Amino acid sequence: MQINETIKKIEKFAPLQIAWEKDNTGLQVGNVNNKITNIFLTVDLNMDILNQALKLKCNFIISHHPIIFNPIKKINLAHDEKSLLIEKLIKNDITVYSAHTNLDFTKGGVSFELAKKLGLENIEFLEKSNDNKFKLVTFVPKAFEEKVSESLFAAGAGIIGEYSKCSFRIDGHGTFLGSSNSNPRVGSKEVFEFCDELRLEVIVDSWNLNNVIQTLHEVHPYEKPAYDIYKLENENENAGFGAKGNLPSELSVNQFLKYTAEKLNLKNFRYSIGKSKTIKKVAVCGGSGTELLQKAIKNNSDAFITADIKYHSFQDAENKILFIDAGHFETEVFGLNSIKKVLQKEISDRNIKIIIHKGSTSPIKFFNKKGDIN
Ligand SMILES: [Zn+2]
Repeated sequence: MQINETIKKIEKFAPLQIAWEKDNTGLQVGNVNNKITNIFLTVDLNMDILNQALKLKCNFIISHHPIIFNPIKKINLAHDEKSLLIEKLIKNDITVYSAHTNLDFTKGGVSFELAKKLGLENIEFLEKSNDNKFKLVTFVPKAFEEKVSESLFAAGAGIIGEYSKCSFRIDGHGTFLGSSNSNPRVGSKEVFEFCDELRLEVIVDSWNLNNVIQTLHEVHPYEKPAYDIYKLENENENAGFGAKGNLPSELSVNQFLKYTAEKLNLKNFRYSIGKSKTIKKVAVCGGSGTELLQKAIKNNSDAFITADIKYHSFQDAENKILFIDAGHFETEVFGLNSIKKVLQKEISDRNIKIIIHKGSTSPIKFFNKKGDIN
């Protein structure tokens, strides 16, 4: 199986179009036409992780964080670690792909996996995205209604939640006058035409839009099909930020703190006290999710778990919601499980091993008075 076939499956689950626009999700280094030996999944890629992947004969590494984020101005093999990493990747013919904010924002991605790890039930987005829906309107001669609509559906148009093949259709009349250089399928050039047409409307997710438009050009009978694309502000069922759910049973604040430490395997974490004496409704966001604090409070969540929380954000949350900084790596690492599940489902070659890096790549250590370092 080629690496690019695998990438297509990952991007079907976590489309690039939903990623943060300044992100560098996607291919980092390598050749996507190579055949996969084994696959290594990690939150971060550094020289140590690369050596582990090489030992396990993995030639495809999927790293949550991109290894190339800011533009690289020089490859300096004498002094720069990033340059040495890229050199070693290329010399060993290793391909690196990053599933970053597309994995953060997709349904079932990083925050959903974190919520699952905490045993939450009825998990849904904390905030749905309203940035990824389009409406395609096209005008089709009646005889081609079936062919055009079915082809657009097959290309990914007309999906609303659990419903597919959704469309709106209304009969009308289209007019056109082809120039002497035109080649009309209906009528003749340089003759004003007035024909029965159907106005066909379908909703399209941003990640299917190119495919749907290409399909329209292929199947529409006219030389120049007429169509309009509208950007919508509808909430998206499949893309959003953070996740929320309920604990199976209510816990006291102390019980919940202990529960969080156990479930996420944390030795230490920072928190500020909220309002509720018991915890049932929990919001989470893997990585830096402070921006969702007000949303979690409005949602009446009893607790909000994320990472990279600043002092003043703890103050904003105090006495309103139990606010927990469980660590950046620690809240994102479970997201790798979602990719592993997609790959296990899609790769039929059982000789290909899918290995998740064990251990932490977090650079953050904790020091205490006794001199213990965790
Ligand atoms: Zn991160």
